[in-house]
Amino acid sequence: MQVFKGIKIVNGIAIGKIKIYKVPVYEIKEDLISDIAGELDRFEAARVKVQDQQNALAEQEVKDGREETAGIFEAHALMLDDDDLIDSCKELIGEGHTAEFAVRKGFEAAAEMFRNMDDPYFQARSADVIDLKNSMLDVLFGNDTESLQGKEPAILVAEDMAPSETVKLDKSLLLGLVTRLGSSNSHTAILARSMNLPTLIQCPDIADDWDGKFAILDGYNSCIYIEPEQEIIDKLTAKQKEDREKEAKLQELKGKPSVTKDGQKVRLYANIGGPKDINAVIENDAEGVGLFRSEFVYLNSKTDPSEDEQFAAYKKVLEALAPRLVIIRTCDIGADKTIDYMNLDKEDNPALGFRAVRICLSRPDFFKRQLRALLRASAFGNLGIMFPMIISKWEVQECKKILNECKEELVKEGVAIGKYEIGIMIETPAAALCADDLAEEVDFFSLGTNDLTQYTCAIDRQSANLERFADTHHPAVLRLIRETIEAGHRHNTWVGICGELGADPTLTETFLSMGVDELSVNPKSILPLRGNVRNVDLSGVKKNNNPEPKSESEVKEVKSEVKSEPAKGFWGRLFS
Ligand code: PEP
Ligand code: MG
Repeated sequence: MQVFKGIKIVNGIAIGKIKIYKVPVYEIKEDLISDIAGELDRFEAARVKVQDQQNALAEQEVKDGREETAGIFEAHALMLDDDDLIDSCKELIGEGHTAEFAVRKGFEAAAEMFRNMDDPYFQARSADVIDLKNSMLDVLFGNDTESLQGKEPAILVAEDMAPSETVKLDKSLLLGLVTRLGSSNSHTAILARSMNLPTLIQCPDIADDWDGKFAILDGYNSCIYIEPEQEIIDKLTAKQKEDREKEAKLQELKGKPSVTKDGQKVRLYANIGGPKDINAVIENDAEGVGLFRSEFVYLNSKTDPSEDEQFAAYKKVLEALAPRLVIIRTCDIGADKTIDYMNLDKEDNPALGFRAVRICLSRPDFFKRQLRALLRASAFGNLGIMFPMIISKWEVQECKKILNECKEELVKEGVAIGKYEIGIMIETPAAALCADDLAEEVDFFSLGTNDLTQYTCAIDRQSANLERFADTHHPAVLRLIRETIEAGHRHNTWVGICGELGADPTLTETFLSMGVDELSVNPKSILPLRGNVRNVDLSGVKKNNNPEPKSESEVKEVKSEVKSEPAKGFWGRLFS
């Protein structure tokens, strides 16, 4: 038996075989070959195989009711019949190059040609060609990409996972996740929490020879046992059973109100990534959706999703969850969430760069496609539209202006539009400090504590090396949260928290004391959080839950009262 340490993301036990997840890096030889006929046959066999794969994917999409995305795979299959593309590769092979070399050169040249076209539709096709190139190389190198994850349930072990890789995983086969890199605030960690998936990051000792071995991931003790002894197997199997029983007990909280012992209500909403999470919202009795990360609709798509594709996704969620409020955040691409077809420049500091609303306001046609889709979907449920990464009032005003233009266009086209609320993420210190000003523009605020912590503490949320310095309970962050809630309430703007901190049980009482109106957390955290809320008694704690605007003297009074009477939990840190 061997034991290796890491940093746990989710408490829990995973028991099963290990699968090493390794994205292949192909070394393509430049040497010339003599068997040209044999190489042409290899190329042709790969082309036919990839074409079959694409047709099979299209059929599967149709079967799963996703006609919109089936078209992408059908188009891929057709591209593989393109005479120019085939001839350019065959010509290179005829000159004595390997099939791998010819595919890389031929497909990259075709992608470049698309990229240089004026029409954005054709520009976006370059990503399809690159995708096909990778599939061709997988086949030529004998790497079946499905085998990256395997076909059996397993604990996946990887160097790191990009959001674009995690979204493609078959979640039903994931028992647990271990990575050498990663940080506790990364989107992969967020995904792990949302699935309640036992996960270890920063496990420096992962090794290729773990592949196929029996293991137990023990999230409680932040370690993984490779080929554990019987005593450990028995102990941790019993712990896993106990966890499952506890989870079953949580079901008793379904349908019960999220209210403290002294009667303060809070709305418990869910964070989701798309229509596939609808069941999780319902099963976990979420009262609404506080954050639909719409960028996952983009990450899940091989090409820039059309207005109709987006409309279909938003409508599905709104309709299924009505009359619950569903807050859809406009596309928050950039930083760690990169997409080939967006053709974004590489930046030195991507977290401080061209992301989210900055992209949307710079590419109005791209933004309008999403806003039109959202407005059309508003007729089918109770919608909230939320803009991310705001720092200035003019950005909110410009977003609203473009939204109104879309609305006018749709009204002219005779399209029905429902009611909707407008909100912004408060995830930059600038927004938190200007919350009074920003509140005049919106119906709600949602505190994105993941980025707010990153930007307040100057701690890159992706960095594995900074884990020791990252303090998610930093008093500066807590103070910005409290001041944002107070500012929102002064202007009748309700305030929620949709960052990971919202699910932190050690902060539930603190946030309720601050008067937070809503906590939006991963669906699996809803019922445990409801249990926490119902155990809180704030009768001895000064509360700030008055959404009516206060006069300045009243505000001063509340602040000084709290100062002279420090309350429980984190209040001491906040006011010290
Ligand atoms: C946040 O920053 O807290 C947030 C909820 O957004 P994301 O994690 O997607 O950046
Ligand atoms: Mg954010």
